[in-house]
Amino acid sequence: MDYLILINKFEPIPPGWADTLKLREAGGKLFEEKTALALEKLLEEAESDGIGIEVISGYRSDDYQQMLWEKEINRHMSIGLDYTAAVAETGKTLALPGCSEHGTGLAADLGTYGSDDIDPNFHKTAAGKWLSRNAGKFGFILRYPRMKEHITGIDFEPWHYRYVGRRPAELITESGICLEEFLHFYSNKYTLC
Ligand SMILES: [Zn+2]
Repeated sequence: MDYLILINKFEPIPPGWADTLKLREAGGKLFEEKTALALEKLLEEAESDGIGIEVISGYRSDDYQQMLWEKEINRHMSIGLDYTAAVAETGKTLALPGCSEHGTGLAADLGTYGSDDIDPNFHKTAAGKWLSRNAGKFGFILRYPRMKEHITGIDFEPWHYRYVGRRPAELITESGICLEEFLHFYSNKYTLC
């Protein structure tokens, strides 16, 4: 399992990934096994600090991502955008089917406990602040940070966390870089963690 795998609109999920994926539940959603175990520990520590975190989204199959993609395009068209504009708008917050980190089982959309949808202001909440301080030691990074939109190609997503393993996560968080930059600077030195 390559925990540093780069998935974006140019690098889709490799064929066969889903066949080797072992899923396990954490916070009521499914994740890749090791990711689920790390997330469980994270949720426990948050709770012991008095912070409730809701797991809003975990693993999504390609079919499910396809359904989300079409639903979002239809929603934009229903408020007046033409198809091209609706696709462009949808692409800002949703990955193309086959190109979503959620298809790897390594990504989690998180929110304040009790919320049923993602919150664009999550980083300003107690849970969001706790995560930005603590997620790294459990192996998670904020995958789409502010000021990195030109590199990740995705708008700031304060709710989307990605498992990469502890050491890379701490390095990425402490140095304020994104996964693309980390892979560029460090190559595959940490692939085995
Ligand atoms: Zn997400």
